[in-house]
Amino acid sequence: MVSRVIPVEPFDLVIFGGTGDLARRKIFPGLYRRFLAGQMTADSRIIGAARAELSDDDFRATVAKAIAEFVSESRQDPAMIAEFLTRLHYVAIDATGAGGWAALKDLMREGVVRAFYFSVAPTLFGDIALRLSQHGVADAASRIVVEKPFGRDLASARALNATLALHFDETQIYRIDHYLGKETVQNLMAVRFANILFEPLWKAEYVDHVQITVAETVGVEGRGAYYDKSGAMRDMVQNHMMQLLCLIAMEPPYHFDPNAVRDEKLKVIRALDPVRPQDIVRGQYLAGGGQGAYTAHSENPHSTTESYIALRVHVSNWRWKGTPFYLRTGKRLRARASEIAITFKEPPHSIFDDAQGWRENVLVIRLQPDEGMHLKVMIKEPGPGGMRLMQVPLDMSFADALGDDHDDLPDAYERLIMDVIRGNQTLFMRGDEVEAAWAWTDPIIEGWTARGDKPQSYDPGTSGPEDALMLMHRDGRRWREIR
Ligand code: NAD
Repeated sequence: MVSRVIPVEPFDLVIFGGTGDLARRKIFPGLYRRFLAGQMTADSRIIGAARAELSDDDFRATVAKAIAEFVSESRQDPAMIAEFLTRLHYVAIDATGAGGWAALKDLMREGVVRAFYFSVAPTLFGDIALRLSQHGVADAASRIVVEKPFGRDLASARALNATLALHFDETQIYRIDHYLGKETVQNLMAVRFANILFEPLWKAEYVDHVQITVAETVGVEGRGAYYDKSGAMRDMVQNHMMQLLCLIAMEPPYHFDPNAVRDEKLKVIRALDPVRPQDIVRGQYLAGGGQGAYTAHSENPHSTTESYIALRVHVSNWRWKGTPFYLRTGKRLRARASEIAITFKEPPHSIFDDAQGWRENVLVIRLQPDEGMHLKVMIKEPGPGGMRLMQVPLDMSFADALGDDHDDLPDAYERLIMDVIRGNQTLFMRGDEVEAAWAWTDPIIEGWTARGDKPQSYDPGTSGPEDALMLMHRDGRRWREIR
């Protein structure tokens, strides 16, 4: 199978925070891979902008190190890396002062796409937006890419939207959620809307429930101070998991067009019921496996921030009446696994009895590891011995289906950055979407704060707190195993 790589228009891409962790681990390695794939034309440039006083050559050396560390060896082509590095430039800049802005303006060219990636602390987003427009660095066609977190509640998200709107139109703002750049997540839309098979069944009448799991094995060590102010609800549910839920629950958009898709996602968020206290389980990991407890990592021995959360959520509309969506995410769990599982109902009339081994159909969409999908279907167990049923997966692992091309699938960041250059906002969150997500999240957090709820402890390496199991058992259901 041959991938089609279409070069994007020539661009000047400025990475604010070009010496930071995200730039080093994700942005530059990703840009190099796109360059290697032939997607960057010869006259495109990448300009690092950060506080450190570096020459172009110093900066190129830091990017070369990042490529050596974070790009797979099979793609490390010394001649191509050297060529890529010639596209890089650097400007020392102070986001909160006047230094560096004139130099940056002089570097920018007319007639190419101008994009500015804000890979800096969110407290600097407003400062950078202001100075880009004040110093005439950005023009009416420029695009800005804003990292997460986008606010920490509705009020701060609104304030940030308002600040950005002073200088940029909504069509210029790309709020990044890297989950939306994942191959399988986009495949959710392809599977739902490019096939006749699933959509007729995609509703409460046929779907028993949906589970969305994002499990991590790592704790918060190293980012404890930041995480303690956030917690799993703000860090994962309000953004990434909400986006996944939207893609599963939304109505078919009239066209695969950025605003049509985002309009449908917004309707889902607005249709979410408030979550009842008994439908929320929060947890915090204990010490174990040679690692400290959450409270040691957060450096606050009395912290009540959750490193785990499970929620039973309901989308209040015709399509989903009575079908619960169970969300759970946590740190230091048994395995690193992200998946969406759609469990279908029983056939209306069964000609087989339970002893014959009937199980429900499940469509599993795996985000990591091993991106892919499988549909569990019932078949007859082979051989003599009468009609015994067994459940087998109809598999669509991308690695198998796409062969060698699978290694060439761009990672989420590189795909999203190329979408910015192409001017396609479909996979970016619109301002009203982010605000609606906070409007749903805020009362949940305010509720547990007012009640003084404490998170339940759980052992590392497990699937989370006991009460999370009860959340499902109570409804006669079970979580899928985390593995
Ligand atoms: P970092 O602390 O490693 O890097 C911050 C960068 O900002 C540095 O290049 C620094 O020089 C620059 N900077 C700081 N103050 C500045 C100023 N006054 N003027 C100009 N430049 C300044 O941070 P990071 O981990 O790379 O994160 C960057 C952004 O990406 C944050 O919004 C973060 O929430 C988000 N993010 C990071 C990750 C990750 O994996 N690191 C993941 C998701 C989102």
